Amino acid sequence: MTRAAVALVLTIGIAGAPATTEPPIRPASAHRVHSVHITVLSTMLADKGVGEWGFAALIEADGHRLLFDTGDRPETVLQNARELGIDLSTVTEVVLSHHHGDHTGGLLALRRELAKANPAALSRIHVAPGIFLSRRKAGSDAESNPTIALKGAVEAGGGVFIEHSGPVELLPGVWLTGPVPRRYPERNWGPPMSIVTARGLVPDSIPEDMALVLNTDKGLVVVTGCGHAGTINTVEYARDVVAPGPLYALIGGLHLFAATDSTLAWTAAKLRAAGLVNLLGGHCTGIEAVFRIRELAGLTRRAAVVAAVGSSFDLDRGIDPLALAQ
Ligand SMILES: [Zn+2]
Ligand SMILES: [Zn+2]
Repeated sequence: MTRAAVALVLTIGIAGAPATTEPPIRPASAHRVHSVHITVLSTMLADKGVGEWGFAALIEADGHRLLFDTGDRPETVLQNARELGIDLSTVTEVVLSHHHGDHTGGLLALRRELAKANPAALSRIHVAPGIFLSRRKAGSDAESNPTIALKGAVEAGGGVFIEHSGPVELLPGVWLTGPVPRRYPERNWGPPMSIVTARGLVPDSIPEDMALVLNTDKGLVVVTGCGHAGTINTVEYARDVVAPGPLYALIGGLHLFAATDSTLAWTAAKLRAAGLVNLLGGHCTGIEAVFRIRELAGLTRRAAVVAAVGSSFDLDRGIDPLALAQ
């Protein structure tokens, strides 16, 4: 399929979708990442460090490093990185997958602490449009988007937010999807929240939700925060805009913990069709969901694992689950 045809399909595919920015389709770079190491720094299960309802991971690709999400509690990622012997002070780039506090809650404390060693530490924060929209919980007039206040505090300390309205190659072979078209009605979010608009309150589909995609020698490695855009929406979009290769690894939160048996079966069948080889399911993926996808997508115990703090994926060595989740 040509790029123009892909753009047409995507345009048709998102017609009527709520408040999702239509991303420009850019020509894919042919650059392949040769070495990848991804270490989970915040998730519920913890062999080392502390667990929490949240997500964060350090991405290392061909010598470049970036932090994907920052956990929930201010100190979690700081403490876990220390305990794992990981120095984050030389990491300048951060991605915030979406506005929820369990992905953005550690940023300010991390930045304040790490800037003592390196003023540029975590100073460039990559986000997608929609992350700063005003939100409301049902029955409340209070602002419920914690990332609005976070923006002011981080900018006051010299941090810069960079918005990406479409797919972008952040580092050679390392892509951000920008907002993901909602091709399938996966509706991976809840409880119901609303976005404040000039027309009143509209349901919050987390339009800014984006994923990181590494175009590697073995296929695509996709990292998601909460997967609110939908697991399959995200995977298929990554294959459309980055490279059509097989899905070598899917890592992070997929928000399938409360999914029905039929949703899990549909998701697993689509992942199998995409050629899924490795699954490191953390955070909101759900424990049963990881096991169900393992079985239905035909994966082995070694290749489909519940993520723990300190667990990792390596392009050469595969998943290291640590002790409890092996
Ligand atoms: Zn979320
Ligand atoms: Zn989350």
